[in-house]
Amino acid sequence: MYQDIVDFIKKTYDTDQFIPLHEPRFIGNEKKYLNECIDSTFVSSVGKFVDQFEQIIAEKIGAKYAIATSNGTSALHMCLILAGVSADDEVITQPLTFIATCNAISYIGAASVFVDVDLDTMGLSPQSLKSFLEQNCRMDNGQCRNKTTGRIIKACVPMHTFGHPCKIDEIGQICDEWNICLIEDAAESLGSTYKGQHTGTFGKMAAISFNGNKIVTSGGGGVIVTNDAAIAKRAKHLTTTAKIPHKWEFDHDEIGYNYRMPNLNAALLVAQLEQLDGFVAKKRNLAAQYQQFFAANNDIKFISEPQDCQSNYWLQAVLLNDFEQRNQFLEYTNQQGVMTRPIWKLMNKVKMFEAAQCADLTHSEYLEQRIVNISSSVPL
Ligand SMILES: *Cc1c(COP(=O)(O)O)cnc(C)c1O
Repeated sequence: MYQDIVDFIKKTYDTDQFIPLHEPRFIGNEKKYLNECIDSTFVSSVGKFVDQFEQIIAEKIGAKYAIATSNGTSALHMCLILAGVSADDEVITQPLTFIATCNAISYIGAASVFVDVDLDTMGLSPQSLKSFLEQNCRMDNGQCRNKTTGRIIKACVPMHTFGHPCKIDEIGQICDEWNICLIEDAAESLGSTYKGQHTGTFGKMAAISFNGNKIVTSGGGGVIVTNDAAIAKRAKHLTTTAKIPHKWEFDHDEIGYNYRMPNLNAALLVAQLEQLDGFVAKKRNLAAQYQQFFAANNDIKFISEPQDCQSNYWLQAVLLNDFEQRNQFLEYTNQQGVMTRPIWKLMNKVKMFEAAQCADLTHSEYLEQRIVNISSSVPL
C-alpha cells in the first residue's frame, strides 16, 4: 500500500540501502579545519574557531551576540537562568516538543505549564496562550501570577517545530503584555525566517542546537543568541565557570557552569556553517518534490511551511488520516529500510510531567496521533 512512497524515497536518494531519517553531510572544509585545529593544539574551550563560530552565527541570524555552549540543552538551561527563572516559578511551553525543552525547565526546579499548538505551524499557539493567561492568571505587582498554583509565570518557551516557524510575533506581543520573558527554543530552526526575520531573534534570547541530527552539526554543541549586551556578557561568564579574568590567578564570583563548546567542535561547525545556505536550499527543493508527490495521495498530506515563513525544512513531515494508519505507515516503511519516525509523545504524558497544568490540548493530541517524519537528509 505504501510501496510507491518507499520507491519514491529510494529513487530520490538513489539507493537500495537502508535510508536513515537524517544523516549529517560532511562535504566541505570539515577535515581541513579539524586538522588545523589539532595542529594548533587548541582543541579545548579556547581558540579561534569558537570565536569565529560565534561571529558567523550572530551575523547569519542577525543577532548582536552569540555565545557558544556544549549543547542545545545547556543553552536552554542558561537562557532560563538568565531570564531570572527560579525554583518556585513556572514556564509556559508546548507539549509537542523534544524532552530537552522541559528538562531544561526542570534543571531550574521550575514547573512546565503546557498550552496548545497551532495545527499549521505545530508550534505554540498565540490563541491558546492568550486564553490560558486570561482564564488562569492575573497581574500582581507587574508579574504574571497563576491563580491556580499561586506561582509566578516567568518565561515562555515556544519551539519552532521541525524548523517551521511558529507565530512568534503574536506570541511576543502577548508575553510583553503579561511581562513574561520570551525565550525561543530555536534548536531546530537555524536557517528559518518568519516575515523575513530569522527565528531566534524575536525573544529576549534563544537557544539553537548543533547535535548530530540537526541541520548543521558540531557533533554536539549549542548557542545562545541575544541582542542584550548585559545578558550576553553574563551568559559568557556563567557558561565558562564564572571565572574572574586574570592572567594567572583563579577566582570565581558565583557558581558557574562548564557549558563551553570545545574548539574542536567549533572547527567542525565553522565548516558546516559554510554549507548551511546550500543545505537549506536542497531541503527546500526536497520538500517541493515531496509536496508534488503527495499531492496525488488522498491518505497522506505533506506538511508545508506556514504562511509568511521560509522554513529550513529540517525534518520533513507528513500527516496521516488517523492513529491506525500512522502505525501501518511506520511499520511498513521501517520494514522496507526507509526509516520513519512518529512525532514525540506529548510532554504532559511523559511520566515526569504528568502532573503539569495544561490548557486544552486538542491540536497537540491531533498531531501526536498523525504526524510522521520521513527521510530528510540533504540529498547528495
Ligand atoms: C535538539 C533539541 C534540543 C536540544 O539540543 P541538544 O543539543 O541535543 O541538547 C532542544 N530542543 C529541541 C526542540 C530540540 O530538537
